[in-house]
Amino acid sequence: MPHPKISPAPRHMAVVGAGMAGVTCARTLVQAGHRVTLIEKSRGAGGRMATRHSDFGGFDHGAQFFTVRDARFHQALQVHPELIVPWQVNTVRVLDMLGQTMATAPGPRDVRWVPVGGMNTLIKRWAQPLADGSLGSQTLLEARVTAIEKDALDATRWQLQLDGPEGAQQVASGFDAVVLAIPHPQADEVLRASQLAPALQKKLASVQVAPCWTLLIAFPQAMQPGLETFGPRWHAASSDHHRIRWVAREPSKPGRSPIERWTIQACPQWSAEHLEDDAERVKAKLLKGFAEITGIRATPAFAAAHRWRYAQTTRPLGQAYLLDAQAGIGLCGDWCLGNRVESAFLSGLELALAVA
Ligand SMILES: Cc1cc2nc3c(=O)[nH]c(=O)nc-3n(C[C@H](O)[C@H](O)[C@H](O)COP(=O)(O)OP(=O)(O)OC[C@H]3O[C@@H](n4cnc5c(N)ncnc54)[C@H](O)[C@@H]3O)c2cc1C
Repeated sequence: MPHPKISPAPRHMAVVGAGMAGVTCARTLVQAGHRVTLIEKSRGAGGRMATRHSDFGGFDHGAQFFTVRDARFHQALQVHPELIVPWQVNTVRVLDMLGQTMATAPGPRDVRWVPVGGMNTLIKRWAQPLADGSLGSQTLLEARVTAIEKDALDATRWQLQLDGPEGAQQVASGFDAVVLAIPHPQADEVLRASQLAPALQKKLASVQVAPCWTLLIAFPQAMQPGLETFGPRWHAASSDHHRIRWVAREPSKPGRSPIERWTIQACPQWSAEHLEDDAERVKAKLLKGFAEITGIRATPAFAAAHRWRYAQTTRPLGQAYLLDAQAGIGLCGDWCLGNRVESAFLSGLELALAVA
């Protein structure tokens, strides 16, 4: 990660959200000499760079891969180059429901990178030094920030209201600045509950994000002798199917379990129309679409549906971050710049450099 200027006055910062944006922001602030408390509502770091484990192997059920275009992202990844590998993915475009395919046009294309072992391993590794106390920083997991308030003991600072496991209420205090590195509707919710930063709230109104229902399925029976030709010959496909936008074969990623596993992403419009549907119903519909695209009609031994309410930005903010410098409140996330892992990295980095 590029080295920011060293601040003469170390401060205590809260960074809310341990996805790519939050972890990048937190690491950069620590490098600049600040103390950081990283706060995450889930049980671990990663955010939408997510991995779900099953008896048959893991699934990257959020981001499937990432690309690297900016030199600063490239530089940050060089700190642990052993953590990522290129995915030599043979991708097609499926044109219709009969599974007719068209090879992707040849030509220069971004390398598609995947972390070794699963999409969340990169962020977990980057977040590790923030959790073990070695840098004077700490990480609070299973802690959902619900509001930002003036610190009860020092009105020049902030305290955060947290919902812990099983609804336990906690307060974390003593922060000189607060960064919300979370999807924009969730940042909006926190700012509204806090009655803070109306100018920032107003800017959030222009951002749009689409949901994504995702189906995860495994076919261990495909490992049996004689079934080597199970399914299509390609690894991943973008699709024009009315329900499905993308399907990918998890074992085609380097170093993953060889058991036949597929991740299927519904298209944004279908996901929005079926957002509140029962997961079992969604599973059945996406499984049908999957069969139409791939020709695989076997019953999976494992099937799970995951709903991403805020999956991919369809209209970004158009600037790297939002900051009320006087109040000490900043917002970052992929939604500032785009809908890619790299957008989240750049947003988190730029905000940290601005507040450091
Ligand atoms: C289905 C899907 C497919 C995708 N495919 C790709 C792809 O192939 N390539 C690519 O580059 N990108 C892809 N993306 C986008 C990529 O995953 C995101 O751009 C990136 O991971 C966003 O990082 P972030 O840090 O901005 O947000 P997030 O990863 O969402 O991190 C935010 C974190 O904040 C936490 N949080 C939220 N609210 C609170 C709160 N109140 N208190 C505490 N914690 C909170 C969340 O639990 C989460 O961990 C995909 C995303 C999805 C969902």
